[in-house]
Amino acid sequence: MLLSSRVKGISDSITMKLNEKALNLNDDGKVIYNLSGGQLPIKPPPEFIEKVHHQLNFLKSYQYSPVAGFPALRKKIMKYVSELRSLPPEVFEEETDCIVSNGSKHSIYNSLGALIDPSDEVILLAPYWVSYPEMIKFWGGVPVVVNSNVFDGFVPAIEDIRKVISARTRVIILNSPNNPAGIHYSEAWMKEFASFLAEFPDLVVISDEVYSEITYFDPKPSYFYQYDRSLLKRTIIIQAISKSLASTGLRLGYAIAPIPIVNAMSKIQGQTTSGPNSLIQRALIDFDFNLIEPFLAPVKHHVRQNAANLREKFREANLGHCWYQSTSAFYFMIDFSRTPMFARFESDHKDYSYQIADELLQNEGITVVPGLDFGLPNSARIALVIEEVPFLEALSKIVKYLNTI
Ligand code: GLU
Repeated sequence: MLLSSRVKGISDSITMKLNEKALNLNDDGKVIYNLSGGQLPIKPPPEFIEKVHHQLNFLKSYQYSPVAGFPALRKKIMKYVSELRSLPPEVFEEETDCIVSNGSKHSIYNSLGALIDPSDEVILLAPYWVSYPEMIKFWGGVPVVVNSNVFDGFVPAIEDIRKVISARTRVIILNSPNNPAGIHYSEAWMKEFASFLAEFPDLVVISDEVYSEITYFDPKPSYFYQYDRSLLKRTIIIQAISKSLASTGLRLGYAIAPIPIVNAMSKIQGQTTSGPNSLIQRALIDFDFNLIEPFLAPVKHHVRQNAANLREKFREANLGHCWYQSTSAFYFMIDFSRTPMFARFESDHKDYSYQIADELLQNEGITVVPGLDFGLPNSARIALVIEEVPFLEALSKIVKYLNTI
């Protein structure tokens, strides 16, 4: 079958693929420790479920929504985000709008479609989320990667970003808290980034903030536009209910952006997917967003506890040099190249993360996400969200594996 070169040029989503693999393995009845899942293993808050349930009775819940989403929801979202960011509501009232899409992935994809022409460059800060480069390529753009590593706490230097700016640079994607590193950039970094942006007035920022409410170590995340509000004129804020309401399968994300960008995204959406799920949108209009914080409080406590368990296990196993303090989102990156097991592999600078992830699955029944697709070879992402007892069991197996020469 002749397929388009565009689709042949991108790879499958490793996060989605592993999610399916873990589901199938569970169906086979094997004991599997699923550390690959980037989602909460719990149901959304009962008050939200109740609102969804209520909406089942209305004809409009089954019919088209406006392409960009119901205006009442878009307004409510902008108010909520302005409160979360300690910004006055007016900042989003005049030149900004909100568009609701089928998950934040869809919002990012449409944002890129609104902004880039073929050969335009988009800067990514590694480690980056797996779908960014593929989405950029799909629109004909060129991903340009700025690296970071565990020694700098996975925070890239602004100077390194400056070095890759070219005449074709159009967009930079920021993801703080970061998937897969599980850290967020400091206030000092965000301030420096704001000053840096002032030097490049044509650069647009896609700020993927999908984990902003899931942080378990102070200080909380802050954002460059809080220090220079004029930057909101070229910022696209991305959020979703996937993580904050434990609703990855409901596919509801949104973007807050300058009106021309929202209109362009709306044009793409109107010709491709139409407006997102009416039932969920209408349930959200009725739902009290103030319930998100209390819903997430025990979640954050749990992730923090698992992060502490990880530190202890690594310390006991003399793997302390592979540890760093994760602070947010659901994840931690294990750098295999700094563990005894890596002696088996040649130091040929190749990536072995797929092979290692496969061994962990076959030998220990543990699913992890290979680091290569996050731009971090010879590493893997583990999620800290499963229950504490199986998480401890999985950790024991991981450290044993890492220390086996
Ligand atoms: N947060 C999820 C993960 O990275 C998203 C998965 C996806 O949509 O690809 O596991």
